[in-house]
Amino acid sequence: MKKLLLFLMAAAILQAQLRPTQPSPYRDADRKIFAEVEKNNELMANLEYLCDMIGPRLTGSDKLRRANEWTMGRLKDYGLDRPHLEAWTIGSGWLRGTASARIVEPTALPMTIASAGWAAATNGPIRGRVIYVKAERPADLEKYKGQLKGMVVLTTEPARVDPNAPVAPDADQSLRGERGREEVNIPFEERMRLRRQMNDFYKNEGALAVLRESSKEHGLLNMTGSGGTNYQVSAVPSAFIIHEDYARLWRLLEHKLPVEVEIDIKNDVKPGPIEVYNTVAEITGGEKAEEIVIVGAHLDSWDLGAGATDNGTGSSVALEAARAIHALGVKPKRTIRFILFAGEEQGLNGSRAYIKAHPDELDKIQGVVIHDTGTGRVKSFTLEGRYDLREALDKMAEPLREAGLEELSMRRTSGSDHVPFRDAGVPAFFGIQDAAEYRKTHHSQSDTFDKIRKADLEQGAKVVAALAWNLAEYPEKLPRKKVEPAAPSRATQ
Ligand SMILES: [Zn+2]
Repeated sequence: MKKLLLFLMAAAILQAQLRPTQPSPYRDADRKIFAEVEKNNELMANLEYLCDMIGPRLTGSDKLRRANEWTMGRLKDYGLDRPHLEAWTIGSGWLRGTASARIVEPTALPMTIASAGWAAATNGPIRGRVIYVKAERPADLEKYKGQLKGMVVLTTEPARVDPNAPVAPDADQSLRGERGREEVNIPFEERMRLRRQMNDFYKNEGALAVLRESSKEHGLLNMTGSGGTNYQVSAVPSAFIIHEDYARLWRLLEHKLPVEVEIDIKNDVKPGPIEVYNTVAEITGGEKAEEIVIVGAHLDSWDLGAGATDNGTGSSVALEAARAIHALGVKPKRTIRFILFAGEEQGLNGSRAYIKAHPDELDKIQGVVIHDTGTGRVKSFTLEGRYDLREALDKMAEPLREAGLEELSMRRTSGSDHVPFRDAGVPAFFGIQDAAEYRKTHHSQSDTFDKIRKADLEQGAKVVAALAWNLAEYPEKLPRKKVEPAAPSRATQ
């Protein structure tokens, strides 16, 4: 009995210690934001319009331009200040045409294929033998000199695709080797440069095309660009084929048989330079109006699906955060700016263009909040290695627990628009989300509105809006600091 009493006393003391000594100064405003999102949000209506009435939004396309105009209109309707489009330019536009392919030897079999972005067309059907080129960098290609004329190149072994494998809980972790992964030591520009160099080699050697593994299950295609960061069209035609077809080509090659394929890819190029746009609007701040909090997502998408989870969800969350914060009717201390970037999918180009156009702002940005991993609920935000921000951000994140946010993460992540800001020393925070099939949907033909989870998207809008508000209200300006480059790790893809 005495033991039990002691135990209860100890438990009571512990509980008292765990209870915050005073309520968070942000709690009331954050609760109002949560209630506003819950009652009046327009998340689903906006996202459905973006996916079904506009459609996929390839950078440089008319549809992205329409999406820019439409989102600017929404922000204007919501009463935001200075809704406008900020122009920047790309080297060329690219229009997807039809693509078909089949195996013709040792037997006739159809294949499912899609041209890589900014890849050259084939100019009519081409037919060639399939060869595997094992090369991670240009120096590895020397041994293939004189062997590639008239050949169709496979550049990787088949991916290990197991639809029954347990799904990692975070979209972030299920994407190793792709977007949202922990930082690897080959920066994006360098990877694109290597790919271009290798494509030039294939072209010079007379190869007909490059086929790439989609690495997804159940017939899903994948997509990336091959145009480099200035949107040049690739030297050789380059296309993704579904994993099932890629694995079959590989099995046939293992029999040491001649394997021949026929490919027909039609694409069009819009000669540049072409103007593209970021959509921008803000809620002007009060006493510290010249300091800025940025809420961002990318409006552009790949074009096989509708860009629903990548990144219609983030765009819709940014619009909702704007609507809900403005609906509070209270001026934040700092200006909260909402930016829908273009060109993210080809190398974070919209956020880079923004920074280039506003170098003076870098000292005044309190923080950047990015939502870009699909429809799953936001479990955490990354501090991107900035331990010096931990205490301040813990204070700001504490009231967000009521909306389901868990502990903040120190993780450094790559592959979205927070990276150029972070690398310039600006505090930047990336949402870590539930997987919610993002690994399957993103970049594939399955990235459509029906995948959206309404409750999770609402939760995401609540915590993004509340974090933006708390950053705007925080008494001190957060320090700038360039983080050390991540420890080298092996690139998985
Ligand atoms: Zn994205």
